[in-house]
Amino acid sequence: MTEQPNTPTVERPDTPAATWRELRRGNERFVAGTPDHPRQDIDRRTSLAHTQRPMVAVFGCSDSRLAAEIIFDVGLGDAFVVRNAGQVVSPSAIGSLEYAVGILHVPVIVVLAHDSCGAVRAAIDSQASDAAPLPSFIAGLVSKIVPAVRKVAGVRAGDEGAIDPSHVDAGFVGREHLRNTVTELVESSEMISDAIAAGTLAIVGANYRLFEGRVETDIVLGRI
Ligand SMILES: [Zn+2]
Repeated sequence: MTEQPNTPTVERPDTPAATWRELRRGNERFVAGTPDHPRQDIDRRTSLAHTQRPMVAVFGCSDSRLAAEIIFDVGLGDAFVVRNAGQVVSPSAIGSLEYAVGILHVPVIVVLAHDSCGAVRAAIDSQASDAAPLPSFIAGLVSKIVPAVRKVAGVRAGDEGAIDPSHVDAGFVGREHLRNTVTELVESSEMISDAIAAGTLAIVGANYRLFEGRVETDIVLGRI
């Protein structure tokens, strides 16, 4: 490595489009079972000791099967990762993503949902007439997914009644919640919406398929 300690540079694609292309290629390698495991050596580690310049911020579910660096086949210092169960928007998530956008200038935020999400399942089940109350902090997370459940169930706004979980498709709820999450992020953060308007940032809402390992794009804000 040729970087000077005081003037470090870290290579990365700079536009949202080039970044998303690299992430897609990495995911294709992972899907095919031919990962490169790039940028995970000692040189990379030492070059990052005094700086970071990640190419992407990933806001995903905490699920242990959604390890960002593995599924996008990227390396140390490549992904700024914010996760909680069900990838629900919160002040700490927005603050972390604003740090990634405003200070680290990441060109892409990937909001990453997945199939068979336990948080989505809990949100659906919480709406049953005989649902047991959830522990309060879990209930707080799940409550952010409930609007997607009730929309998919076709419940009218203002109707507080219970629903039958067996009539609610978890895949549809997951996608609805993903879109709600992307929308809420942009509406909550002027920094993020300004960066999208300026063309320096894109948000990709994607759904990860646990079996295939594929990251499927669902919604894009900005140009990629
Ligand atoms: Zn999940």
